Amino acid sequence: MSDDISFNQAKYLLSAPTIKQCPDDTGREVAFAGRSNAGKSSAINTLTNNSKLARTSKTPGRTQLLNFFTLSEDRRLVDLPGYGFAKVPKAMKQAWDRNLACYLQERQSLFGLVMLMDIRHPLQEYDWQMIRWASQAEMPVHLLLTKADKLKKGPAKSVLLGVQGELAKEGFGDNISIQTFSSLKKAGLEELKKTLNVWLKAEK
Ligand code: GDP
Repeated sequence: MSDDISFNQAKYLLSAPTIKQCPDDTGREVAFAGRSNAGKSSAINTLTNNSKLARTSKTPGRTQLLNFFTLSEDRRLVDLPGYGFAKVPKAMKQAWDRNLACYLQERQSLFGLVMLMDIRHPLQEYDWQMIRWASQAEMPVHLLLTKADKLKKGPAKSVLLGVQGELAKEGFGDNISIQTFSSLKKAGLEELKKTLNVWLKAEK
């Protein structure tokens, strides 16, 4: 389709420590979340075909910020900090949790959440917390089981079905879609783009 979003046009816009410093809450954005090391930067770089784009979020001291990238005048991607830092002091983690919950609940232009989980370690405690927050905010979630190249096709499919089953059992089946993904092999890229095109184009 000629009017599909050009993800390779993505440009770094700004980093915001709290919701107050975010860009104007107009248009539409999709946020990426996941545990540190889940493969979030790699996935954003693969999606945008720009190997340097998500590096901003890896700059020391910047990991607790929301990083905004523009796709067009009123469409954005947002890189949320990787959760699960072992070394962050508790008070800092609590402050960040409040900021993140606030962003998910109050940000009008946030349309959906792409959540990344390493296919070998899905549905960890903090992943469930994100899923609960998104559900409370009535926000669609698209789950990427990342680094799918680490498993053979059959086992990868079993993990996908297992995660789907767990989510359904906990009552989250309806608003969550799920796929396998590999930045290394660029596998699952078209499926991801398809979801993002629907989310970023739909009327609210
Ligand atoms: P982030 O902390 O979530 O941003 O994760 P990164 O994108 O930095 O990736 C963490 C590690 O996983 C790095 O060593 C990447 O090279 C590796 N990685 C990321 N995506 C893939 C993938 O699709 N396949 C494989 N095999 N490794 C990956």
